[in-house]
Amino acid sequence: MKIGFIGLGNMGGPMAANLARAGHDVRGFDTASVIIDGVQPVNSATEAAEGADVVITMLPNGDILRKVAREVIPAMSEGAVFLDCSTVDVDSARAVAEDAQNAGLLPLDAPVSGGIGGAAAGTLTFMVGGPEEGFKKAADLFDIMGQKSVHCGPSGNGQAAKICNNMILGVTMIATCEAFALADKLGLSREAMFDVVSTSSGYSWSMNAYCPAPGVGPQSPADNGYKPGFAAELMLKDLGLSQQAAEAADADTPMGAAALALYRQFVEDEDGKGSDFSAMLPRFEKRNRS
Ligand code: NAD
Repeated sequence: MKIGFIGLGNMGGPMAANLARAGHDVRGFDTASVIIDGVQPVNSATEAAEGADVVITMLPNGDILRKVAREVIPAMSEGAVFLDCSTVDVDSARAVAEDAQNAGLLPLDAPVSGGIGGAAAGTLTFMVGGPEEGFKKAADLFDIMGQKSVHCGPSGNGQAAKICNNMILGVTMIATCEAFALADKLGLSREAMFDVVSTSSGYSWSMNAYCPAPGVGPQSPADNGYKPGFAAELMLKDLGLSQQAAEAADADTPMGAAALALYRQFVEDEDGKGSDFSAMLPRFEKRNRS
C-alpha cells in the first residue's frame, strides 16, 4: 500500500518503520524533520497524503489533528482511509471524521495502548471507531503495527474506549498505591500485600501486571526507578480527556475527577513530571494524612 504517515515522534516513528519494514511504500512528514529507517521523508503533510491509499496521523492533540486534517483531506484520493492513531478528544475525532466522510474518505479513529515499547515491537492494541469498510481496509496495517484491533462502532468510539479504559487505569493505580502506603504504615510487608491482593478481590492490572512496588510482582517501571513506561503527564492528558468527555455527555464520574485532580497536582505542583504514572506510590509513601 501507499501510506502517508504524519507525526513521526516516539510512537509514530517506530510504527512507520514497522510498516516500511513489512514492504509498504511509506512517505513520512513531521514538523521536526525526523528521519526514520525505510520511510521516505517529504516536505509537507499534503505531499505525504497525495495518492496515498491510507494516511496515518500520530499527533499530540485534537487541535493539531484538526489543523493537519484540514490540510490533508482535500489532498487525499476518494475512497482512501484517513487513520488517526493519536489520543484526542472525542469531539475532535468526530468532527474530523465528518469532514473526511464528506470528502468521500473512510475515516477511522484508532488510538492505541501499549506505549513506546509496543510501538517498536509491533504489539499495540488498536481501539477503532468508524465505518466497517475502512476497518477492513486497514486490517493488515493493524496486524503489522499491533497484536490486536477491536472495532468499537462508529466514529469517535475508538477514542471513547481509550479514555474510559485509561480512566479505570488511573483510578485503580491510585487505589493500588494508596493501599500499599497504608499497608506499609500498618506493618504489612509489600510481598504479603501483593500475594494477597493479586489473588483476591482487590486485584487489577495495576497490581497484577504493573505492580507499583519495586521488587514485588512482575518487572515494571517501579523496578527501574519509575522511569516511564507510561509517563504521569500522559496519564494526566488522558484523564483530562475523559473528564472533558464526561462533561460533554453529562456523565457523573467522581472517581475520574478525583484521579485527574491528583495527577494534576503530582505533575504540575510536585515532582511527578517525567516519572512513570506508578510513581504515585513513593508520593503517598512520603505523605501523612493531613
Ligand atoms: P511525540 O510528541 O513524541 O510525537 C508527536 C510528533 O508529532 C512529534 O514528532 C511532533 O514534531 C509531530 N508534530 C506536531 N505537530 C505536527 C504537525 N502539525 N505536522 C506534523 N507533525 C507534527 O508524542 P508520542 O508519544 O509519539 O504520542 C503521539 C500520540 O500517541 C499522542 O496523542 C499520545 O497521547 C498518544 N499515545 C502515546 C503513548 C506513549 O506512551 N508515548 C501511548 C499511547 C498513546
